[in-house]
Amino acid sequence: MTALFDLPPLPEVPVAGSDATYPVRRIFCVGRNYAAHAAEMGVEVDREAPFYFTKTPWAICHSGASIPYPLETENYHYEMEFVVAIGKPAFRVAKADAMDVVFGYACGLDMTRRDLQLAARAKQRPWDLGKDVENSAVIAALTPAADFAIGTQRIALAVNGETKQDATLADLIWSVPELIAHLSRFYHLQPGDLIYTGTPAGVGAVVAGDTILGEIDGLAPVALSLTEAE
Ligand code: MN
Repeated sequence: MTALFDLPPLPEVPVAGSDATYPVRRIFCVGRNYAAHAAEMGVEVDREAPFYFTKTPWAICHSGASIPYPLETENYHYEMEFVVAIGKPAFRVAKADAMDVVFGYACGLDMTRRDLQLAARAKQRPWDLGKDVENSAVIAALTPAADFAIGTQRIALAVNGETKQDATLADLIWSVPELIAHLSRFYHLQPGDLIYTGTPAGVGAVVAGDTILGEIDGLAPVALSLTEAE
């Protein structure tokens, strides 16, 4: 048997200080993981359990790219996020053991068609059209876990040099080990699985011609530029 056509290889993320790359398998995104962001979205934080949506691996976009303003939206939003890369299989892992399965961390952007997300939310429909947007999972080079200890690092984002988001990783409601322990009850997590851990307050729209720069102290920054729509 032969395949009717070839698929492109899965996206790979560079690893800082290495020739190695990290192939991407799945992308999990956490919703409402900073209290101030949940408030600006007009919703309560669910303290019972985190919740997630997913993007296909084909949504990966490398930091530094210039992409056309996306299709069928008039309100394309940036969301600066701390990204966790899983490096070992994890199934029903305890919170106390969860950090052992982390490969590393990166700066990422969960770019969002906010108008479509909110329209879907209002009708109690899935968020896919708002969230699983082509080129919407922007990611910079990964830093190995041995070189980064999660603490009170600043997480910030600027558009055209003007700061829009400014918080710290200590503001995360659900911690990285809590997220890994929880997700591993529902999925057999594997190397290649990324977790975008949610965005701080200050989300907003960008337009063609804008340049976004997202930073977390100690990690490679993430950048994205938007060109005219197709
Ligand atoms: Mn997000």
